[in-house]
Amino acid sequence: MIVLDHVSMKYPTGTLALDDVTFHIGKGEFVFIVGSSGSGKTTLIKLLLNEIKPTKGDIVVSGMTYSKLKRRDIPKLRRKFGVVFQNFRLLKDRTVFENVAFAQQVVEKSNKEIRREVPAVLTMVGLASEYKKYPKQLSGGEQQRVAIARAIVNRPDIILADEPTGNLDPANSTEIMELLDDLNKKGTTVVVVTHNKEIVDAMQKRVIRLKKGKIVSDVVKGGYKDED
Ligand code: ADP
Ligand code: MG
Repeated sequence: MIVLDHVSMKYPTGTLALDDVTFHIGKGEFVFIVGSSGSGKTTLIKLLLNEIKPTKGDIVVSGMTYSKLKRRDIPKLRRKFGVVFQNFRLLKDRTVFENVAFAQQVVEKSNKEIRREVPAVLTMVGLASEYKKYPKQLSGGEQQRVAIARAIVNRPDIILADEPTGNLDPANSTEIMELLDDLNKKGTTVVVVTHNKEIVDAMQKRVIRLKKGKIVSDVVKGGYKDED
């Protein structure tokens, strides 16, 4: 489902952010990508989202080869991913309902679909009764659940989360990871970038570790193993 084939990313500044990275993530997997700050995790996410292009190697997601993408393929590729960020990135002047609905309006869903699907997805993340609230009326954990609802409302094949618990306390972090685990059990492939050792140790999933842009380990079921 996700293949990186000898991918390197050298920024124009000369920084080699990823250095010959190769891995395969199968459909339905749950994978942590870990490594200290500056190890290349966010660069990897940006490459998967086709926001930047690798300087070497190629990426294939669901049969779409990035080096061969046509302009018209790009929206289709983008819709394969639901993305969750550390800082939630909600629209402050819109309600919970409107934040989730916005993701559907962007892909031109009908109002009928929006009225059906937004409440369903808010129920899934446990926020059905908060739909009229604005982001600032919610806790950090609740805001991240809205962001997850927005990420999944168009049913992406893959959830990409970049440090999703970075701004949350341990209890909320655990809840968010359990929610991602539930979504994974329903069939969505989940890729979580993090340096939250407690979470990774507790979940016992596949862990790919980056160090200075290189993969230094890839274990099928394991903990964080802090070595740097
Ligand atoms: P992480 O998310 O693991 O902290 P990043 O992927 O953000 O790591 O960064 C990897 C390396 O690439 C770091 O040395 C960082 O300074 C550098 N880097 C990231 N983005 C850019 C950019 N836009 N231009 C130049 N260097 C960058
Ligand atoms: Mg980062």
